[in-house]
Amino acid sequence: MPALDDSAHASSTRAPTDVLRHVFGFERFRGRQEEIVAHVCAGGDALVLMPTGGGKSLCYQVPALVRPGTAIVVSPLIALMHDQVQALRQLGVKAAMLNSSLAPGAARQVERQLAMGELDLLYVAPERLLTESFLTLLGGARIALFAIDEAHCVSQWGHDFRPEYRQLTVLHERFPGVPRIALTATADGPTRREIVERLALEEGRVFLSSFDRPNIRYRIAPKNNPRAQLRAFLDDHEDEAGIIYCMSRAKVEATAEMLATEGRTALPYHAGLDAETRARHQDRFLKEEGIIMVATIAFGMGIDKPDVRFVVHLDLPKSIEAYYQETGRAGRDGLPSEALLLYGLEDVAKLIQFVDSSDAPDARKRVERAKLDALLGLAETARCRRQVLLSYFEEDLPQPCGNCDTCLSPPKTFDGTEAARKLLSCVYRTGERFGAGHVIDVLLGQATEKVAKFGHDKISTFGIGKAFSRDEWRAIVRQLVAMGLLVVDVEGHGALGLSEKCRPVLRGEEKVELKAEARARPARTGGGERAPRAQLSDPEDEALFLRLKALRLEIARAQGVPPYVIFHDTTLMEVARVRPRSIAAFGDISGVGEAKLERYGNAFLAVVDDG
Ligand code: ADP
Ligand code: ZN
Repeated sequence: MPALDDSAHASSTRAPTDVLRHVFGFERFRGRQEEIVAHVCAGGDALVLMPTGGGKSLCYQVPALVRPGTAIVVSPLIALMHDQVQALRQLGVKAAMLNSSLAPGAARQVERQLAMGELDLLYVAPERLLTESFLTLLGGARIALFAIDEAHCVSQWGHDFRPEYRQLTVLHERFPGVPRIALTATADGPTRREIVERLALEEGRVFLSSFDRPNIRYRIAPKNNPRAQLRAFLDDHEDEAGIIYCMSRAKVEATAEMLATEGRTALPYHAGLDAETRARHQDRFLKEEGIIMVATIAFGMGIDKPDVRFVVHLDLPKSIEAYYQETGRAGRDGLPSEALLLYGLEDVAKLIQFVDSSDAPDARKRVERAKLDALLGLAETARCRRQVLLSYFEEDLPQPCGNCDTCLSPPKTFDGTEAARKLLSCVYRTGERFGAGHVIDVLLGQATEKVAKFGHDKISTFGIGKAFSRDEWRAIVRQLVAMGLLVVDVEGHGALGLSEKCRPVLRGEEKVELKAEARARPARTGGGERAPRAQLSDPEDEALFLRLKALRLEIARAQGVPPYVIFHDTTLMEVARVRPRSIAAFGDISGVGEAKLERYGNAFLAVVDDG
């Protein structure tokens, strides 16, 4: 970590908009930032719920610079702290961190700086914060505020539970006059309520923003030929950085290898790799451009990289929450990004098996099953994906979004009552003991060994489904499972069974509307035009943008930091479009604060001049 920048000034009272403009180089606050900042600057407590990329950090970083004293930021992950501290130092802010990655000597120095009032912001791991010695140190320091980042870590039900987070109420008890601001991108209601209770924020204000991520284009497609589908998708994302999630370590390795043979820089990441390899791969993902990370869900938490352009799921995630969180790692910078989920019936069976065979109590299992059903509903919907996604988080999007696969190429539907009845009765006639593959064989009238063995060529449903192809039948099976007409039995290793709900359909009292997707669509990613690209429309501007990026990479390499810490893509794009010719004009670009202007202004202006 580089030494603190001497040109910076420790906090003194300044207006929030001045800090925003001079330090961060942003013209105006976004969304609810202004309200939040004013509330915290005035000493109020707050809970901030904002999606990833919504701009949460400014909500405490600006008050940290406005209020006298040091802001203490509780953060659960070293990588996250490291990133934030690097970014703040680039802005000329006096920021430091305290966690287990620091040598004792370095930690003592940071503590001394805190005691001397030399820091604007100090990031601390919760376990460190909670030690008596650190609390005593805080007692002698001037504290501007406490920010509790990733506040959902107090929730026992989430994936990121951190027991120490529950003890953070001590901050309120020991420092009652210091404002506390808790922040999270976790969207569900129960977690929100738990945060308020666990962090004793009842007196604070809750600032809830929309959880929509309009720049992410959602695509969900059946897994017909995953390799070809992935290739087609990646063809639209040449040279871009992205994450590909797989369920197993073996698949991570195989996928990364396959992509490497196709000329992409793809790195594997999973818990089976040693810590050093994982760290190296993560570091390359952050510091180089256009790298694809192929990973299990072990990867992603605490990754602040703003220019992840796509997220692919080659297997079904566990729940809508997980899907939202994982896809949310795309497009933090607000530029067009894409999320693709490929899923098949096997995934569903696997996940159900996973849930049902766990040692969790039954109530817990029922919740997990319900979550899986909701996800399946999203995957099979003919409605706008974003509307379905947001309604799961109790948010109403009045109009279809126009930026998801179902909006871009609405699936055709047909009256599938007859097909559904054929399928349901075939499941029934074969004894509700077989998986989709065999049931479809019977419908298609295939004389397989298994069909012969069970005498299924003798039953009335043998060969009655020849009007549809195998893929079409698979699509129908998935939809009936998503509708709850068919159930996947776990003890029976993915055997299909009938549910109560299918009675009216079998009796001919209820119609079933099905998507004609398997018929209408090519084996590509699921319809729609080419992916939106985060690039400039004018080719000359785009060429200049690429030259600016090259300079940025050079500077970043020399300092050993990720390129986005120097300038975000959004900033360089504006430079390429506006072509500033003077330092003053360069300073007007969004994302160019005073410290960066002084450090990098001339170098980037020279590139503009050459172009
Ligand atoms: P979060 O922590 O909520 O995921 P960040 O704080 O990382 O989001 O902000 C997301 C992006 O938006 C960053 O690139 C940040 O620089 C940018 N940003 C935040 N607030 C503003 C603003 N008021 N004006 C311009 N850009 C902003
Ligand atoms: Zn839509």
